[in-house]
Amino acid sequence: TLHITDAFGRIGEENAFAVLARATDLAAQGRDIINLGIGQPDFRTPEHIVEAAIKALRDGHHGYTPATGIKPLREAVSADLHKRFGVDVSPDSVLIVPGGKVTMFMAILMFGEPGAEILYPDPGFPIYRSMIEFTGAKPVPVPMRESNGFAFSAEETLGLITPRTRLLILNSPANPTGGVTPKAEIDKLVAGLARFPDVAIMSDEIYAQMTYDGLEHQTLLAYPEIRDRLILLDGWSKTYAMTGWRMGYSVWPKPLYEAARKLAVNSYSCVNASAQYAGLAALTGPQDAVRDMVAEFDRRRRVVVEGLNALPGVSAVTPKGAFYAFPNIAQTGWKAKPLASALLEKAGVATIGGPDFGVHGEGYIRLSYANSTENIRKALARMGEFLEQNK
Ligand code: PLP
Repeated sequence: TLHITDAFGRIGEENAFAVLARATDLAAQGRDIINLGIGQPDFRTPEHIVEAAIKALRDGHHGYTPATGIKPLREAVSADLHKRFGVDVSPDSVLIVPGGKVTMFMAILMFGEPGAEILYPDPGFPIYRSMIEFTGAKPVPVPMRESNGFAFSAEETLGLITPRTRLLILNSPANPTGGVTPKAEIDKLVAGLARFPDVAIMSDEIYAQMTYDGLEHQTLLAYPEIRDRLILLDGWSKTYAMTGWRMGYSVWPKPLYEAARKLAVNSYSCVNASAQYAGLAALTGPQDAVRDMVAEFDRRRRVVVEGLNALPGVSAVTPKGAFYAFPNIAQTGWKAKPLASALLEKAGVATIGGPDFGVHGEGYIRLSYANSTENIRKALARMGEFLEQNK
């Protein structure tokens, strides 16, 4: 018998990938499926970025790069953060990683062990909890409440910190809710964290460029008082429609940077060289594709929210960021997971049940509006018909 470690009995996953597989199967059987399940832009990566990768391959960038990433790319990340937020980040604290997920993997491995507690948003990205469990640490959910716009409450978050808390995971704009934590609340949270200097913070800002209604993204990098214990997670996947390229970056305080670099050397060595040149073109080239994409998400957001609120028993708060809606379906008489499953099997609409994002996700389903307006309207019509017939 093989003896795989106990940790693998505790590791979870992302149900979005299972839903995607089922939706693909049904489509292969000839069913007409509209996929509002998966969290990735439905746009192609802008052409000048693709060209940069092809050029890098032609130019002979075929070997290992430094484990931390090529220097011009780390410098471009630093310049981009300065341009967007006016913050100073040394290129030597920037680590290029194969996807935003790898930053959370590293950060949670650094702080998680039996006896430690890690705070994370619930409902939230499922990998936070999965990785916390993997390390043997205790996952402590911070509830993201509909009544609070699915944002962090500084008071509630600070109240969950104990002497065993090692890491606090933040995410705004948020998956799966589209919630954005207001600046005033982040100010309060950071002020309160002064009382807990031993708690590290990982801020997942992968949806930073996707905010709506003129709302400006508030980065945690803007608070000098926590910079010595802040890990920033960001990347190219969502902003530049590059989920398949596996390109992310993180910003680390100095001692943690060394630890992260060693993890890189011990696992993937470096990120695909040509993809790094693509990432460089993304940051230094024209940004209109990003603006156009966000404007299109904004238009769809309005269609989704209006359509959802017209469905029997469904109510949806207007998401302020990312590209997800998280409607409350409690009044439909359905539980969230059976509803998501029935919508896929019977109505041909893929969504994700809220409980796949945590215990506080019951009563909700997640819809990604990274799909055409036409498909979104069709999906809403199908959902309406299904709910009328299955009360
Ligand atoms: N963080 C959040 C909140 C996400 O929703 C996702 C992707 O869905 C990621 C991180 C991971 O992004 P990547 O594909 O770059 O690993």
